[in-house]
Amino acid sequence: MALGLQTRESTEAAPQPGLFRTIVESITDGIVVIDERSTILYCNPAAERLFGWPDGELAGRPIDVLVPEEYRPRHQFRVRAFAHGEAQSRRMGSRQAHILGQRYDGSEISLGITILRSGSMMMAVIRDLSDWIRENRELERLANTDPLSGLQNRRGFSEAAERAIRKGPGEDCRFFLLMLDIDFFKQVNDRHGHDAGDAAIRNVAVVMREALRSKDLVARWGGEEFVALLSLNGRKEALMVAERLRMRIASTTFSGGPGVALGMTASIGLVDGPGEGEGLDAFVRRADLALYEAKAKGRNRVVFLSP
Ligand code: GH3
Ligand code: MG
Ligand code: MG
Repeated sequence: MALGLQTRESTEAAPQPGLFRTIVESITDGIVVIDERSTILYCNPAAERLFGWPDGELAGRPIDVLVPEEYRPRHQFRVRAFAHGEAQSRRMGSRQAHILGQRYDGSEISLGITILRSGSMMMAVIRDLSDWIRENRELERLANTDPLSGLQNRRGFSEAAERAIRKGPGEDCRFFLLMLDIDFFKQVNDRHGHDAGDAAIRNVAVVMREALRSKDLVARWGGEEFVALLSLNGRKEALMVAERLRMRIASTTFSGGPGVALGMTASIGLVDGPGEGEGLDAFVRRADLALYEAKAKGRNRVVFLSP
């Protein structure tokens, strides 16, 4: 826009005096200008609002007052690098790597910033990304959550499990993958209706969450099938955890809605891994194979399958 105005300036009448001031003072992006010593020379009303500073109080202060304390050394380094670099402008801040600013009251704010250089002065055009980032996080959460049970869905589990596997199981531990499927669940739907089936699935999710530790990844894989990634000391311990879960389900009276009490059992497949070079998909397939065997052997049991 400024460029357009400048081009016109040379061919047509110059913009009215004060036009740029009006733009800077009414724009909703914050603008902060600093000198070579990082002292604030000017900031527009939007910047004061953004950082919650009283009118006219920012000018003359070091730019550091707008940066959370822990980021100040890094920020100073970056400002110096930009001041002495080639680039005339740089954009910083995205959903993955937003810049954190600090408000007058000490709270933090997520920002997208474009910095520009003009002689010895530098200016930043600053946009508040907090709402956008919050909304994106909420969308991400929704995309990863199963609405019926509130557990993670397949997508959420896969992402979290890949991350956990990359990080490793922790000292003296191995990963175990547990896959659970409710036995004869079709009968629940057939006898009591789909809503009762839904309620039963929700209640099994609660039992799973309660029977396992908060650090275990638990998800609804689909239908009436659940998965869990556990990091445990060894096979014996993993079998104990799976067995405890199986018994808990077998001994619980599940509510399938008002007046509907359901007894259910579940079969569980258990494997350890992932093996050398084995991806999550193959790891899950092995757990599914173990589950299949638990079904074939008569259901309401745990089958551990060695690689
Ligand atoms: P088994 O696992 O012991 O072999 O028998 P099953 O009757 O449980 O068989 P299967 O696992 O193949 O069938 C699962 C049934 O679960 C099929 C489908 O009607 C029902 N189901 C899947 N998802 C949902 C859901 O979200 N809500 C309800 N109410 N039912 C579901
Ligand atoms: Mg089933
Ligand atoms: Mg099933």
